[in-house]
Amino acid sequence: ADEAERFRASHPVSAQLASRRGEHLVGGVPMTWMRRWATPFAITVERAKGSELVDVDGHRYLDVCLGDTGAMAGHSPEPTARAIRARLESGGLTTMLPTDDAEVVADELTRRFGVERWQFTLSATDANRFMLRTARQLTKRPLVVVMDWCYHGTVDESFVVLDGALTRSRPGNVGPAVDPATTTRAVPFNDLGALEAALADRQVAAVLTEPALTNIGIVLPDEGYLEGLVELAHHYGSLVVLDETHTISAGPGGLTGKLGLRPDGVTIGKAIGGGVPIGAWGLRAELADAIVADRDADLEDTGGIGGTLAGNALSLAAARATLTEVLTERAFDEMGAVSHELVRRERALLADHGFDWSVVELGARSEVRFVSPPPRTGADSARAADVDLDRYLHLALANREVLLTPFHAMTLVAPTTTLAHVETYLDALADALAPLAR
Ligand code: PLP
Repeated sequence: ADEAERFRASHPVSAQLASRRGEHLVGGVPMTWMRRWATPFAITVERAKGSELVDVDGHRYLDVCLGDTGAMAGHSPEPTARAIRARLESGGLTTMLPTDDAEVVADELTRRFGVERWQFTLSATDANRFMLRTARQLTKRPLVVVMDWCYHGTVDESFVVLDGALTRSRPGNVGPAVDPATTTRAVPFNDLGALEAALADRQVAAVLTEPALTNIGIVLPDEGYLEGLVELAHHYGSLVVLDETHTISAGPGGLTGKLGLRPDGVTIGKAIGGGVPIGAWGLRAELADAIVADRDADLEDTGGIGGTLAGNALSLAAARATLTEVLTERAFDEMGAVSHELVRRERALLADHGFDWSVVELGARSEVRFVSPPPRTGADSARAADVDLDRYLHLALANREVLLTPFHAMTLVAPTTTLAHVETYLDALADALAPLAR
């Protein structure tokens, strides 16, 4: 309560703007679940650069949320800003025709993730939607398998949870055209037996998963789990789609690249645009070519894939600069090193406190869990979440000018995040945890 009062008192301009916003925007926030965010109202942003964000009340935050990965390249990275300015000046932001950036970006994604043929969208959500439709088209099978407690954007087929042995639409899903329970089988992450049971009747077009869950806290794959998943899916004739939207924190090619996995499809968004909307979905060449042949043979094809602004020149100019000049292999090495130092020091700090904890690392991303050892499934992770503590930390750190990921004590490091920023974060964390010390 004290922290909430402190927040209100120190954010008068944000408070006023937030109350006015409610009159014009549904719920007054970009996504309705943000109404349950730990701060009494959303901070209104004035500007952001690198790892720092300034709000309308003049607070200068260290941003370790980074737009939940959308700004993983740092806010307005210079090469991306330069490419956007150049495209603005040359003109031709959206023409429904390709620019040469498309081929460069697709080539770069292939080098990183292994799959050869790409299509662009405006979000990761849309990349997943197109991918699932395409998987059904390719396999002529009706169902998809996803992980219990997964999140792949507002995609009906993946918006499910397990209720005992039954797959159910997830609370909060708004108006799906068909009940997701009829399109989808959810299985626990890290459970190959349950996966095999879901695949055995050969009705499943694709298994869609993040290679590590990141939206119900971070849940890392057991050793060999992902390799086993690929093998089982292929044995039963299902495609494997890995959603690397968040797990790209693990390296330039996400966990796919890091572990040398061979999925049939990869979806991604957020980070690769350097802050500009873009998503991408990539398929193995033979699958993509089969789709093209199928479309070419279909004289009735009036366009089931893509959109007019997908692959627009602005998004692709930004993605090209971001991938080739900002989120480079070297940048990932440096981000990983800074994040690891943050974790090392965080562990030392937490050791002084009287609750269970563990810290999970995924390259440039890490998370403090208030449980030890870290959970292995989405359901365990949901049960283990200390919602009150996570909410307290988000609010208390906001009051100490550090923006943490909401609902999870999760940090993301950008190429602009320095060891001095790590110091700032740890000081704020120590101060916020002090009342809880043993
Ligand atoms: N996939 C994953 C793994 C995500 O975490 C998210 C969003 O958090 C998405 C897809 C959807 O991204 P967007 O909301 O940008 O479409």
